Amino acid sequence: MTLTITQKKLTLYIREFLSRMNKGKKLYEGKAKIIYEGPEKGTGIQHFKDDATAFNNLKKSTVEGKGVLNNRISEHILNNLNQIGVKTHLIKRLNMREQLIKLCNIFPVEFIVRNIATGSLTKRLGIADGTVLSKPLIEFSYKNDDLGDPVISREHILEFGWVKDPITLDLIIERCLRINDFMQGMFRGVGIKLVDFKLEFGRSNIDNELMLADEISPDTCRLWDVSSEKKLDKDRFRKDLGNIVQAYQEVARRLGIIHEESNISSVKFGKPKAVNIKKK
Ligand code: 5GP
Repeated sequence: MTLTITQKKLTLYIREFLSRMNKGKKLYEGKAKIIYEGPEKGTGIQHFKDDATAFNNLKKSTVEGKGVLNNRISEHILNNLNQIGVKTHLIKRLNMREQLIKLCNIFPVEFIVRNIATGSLTKRLGIADGTVLSKPLIEFSYKNDDLGDPVISREHILEFGWVKDPITLDLIIERCLRINDFMQGMFRGVGIKLVDFKLEFGRSNIDNELMLADEISPDTCRLWDVSSEKKLDKDRFRKDLGNIVQAYQEVARRLGIIHEESNISSVKFGKPKAVNIKKK
């Protein structure tokens, strides 16, 4: 038994080691991900970390297994989006924590899509938490940690050239709604309400094509169980609700990404106990 676990771990270390050898220089390190140069021009390797942050970095921790789950969940969603004609930066998943991606110049704007009012929307405007919106609401925020990602308007985006032209901005909004449509259906089918989520878009470094970038995972979405309204997303970390990895695992299981019996959390060995061997 112990031998099997050791072999598994050894295989993982070897894979990790080989994947590190294939990576180019580090291009960017964010709160939850690192981007390295990829093997070919215009490609990158997106590495998912276990680090969790909230409230503009005021709260920080490591959640073992989160990176592995986000890598798998985001791969699943972006692959499905690619299949329905929504262009994304994902080329393929490489290993437990990494994806091969097309490098993009990302617009410094977060596109937030909301179906149910909660989070910063309810705080800002005093709307009752859980209010179902009559249609999806799109908000924009300026990606700037020093300013705390402030909410901005379409006019700010165009005036300051964060997205260069109104046609591109309209196209992005259209894609946000298409992605919301698709994801709402996908999550509904497995008993999950898609409450809200954040998207990032950019243009490919190679051919300037507009595409969805970053990730879509329980780190970037709010996901509530349909019947119990149990939170299955990063709010478990933000609000100290516990069982973060278990909730992300639940999302992955329901989407059919991991098997019923899978357990992403690390294998923990107890302290070795002294064994008295009786002499015959
Ligand atoms: P809120 O504006 O209510 O805090 O967030 C709305 C939605 O966008 C939530 O699903 C939240 O997870 C996501 N979101 C907004 N900003 C960020 C961000 O900077 N990082 C991550 N991971 N998600 C964000």
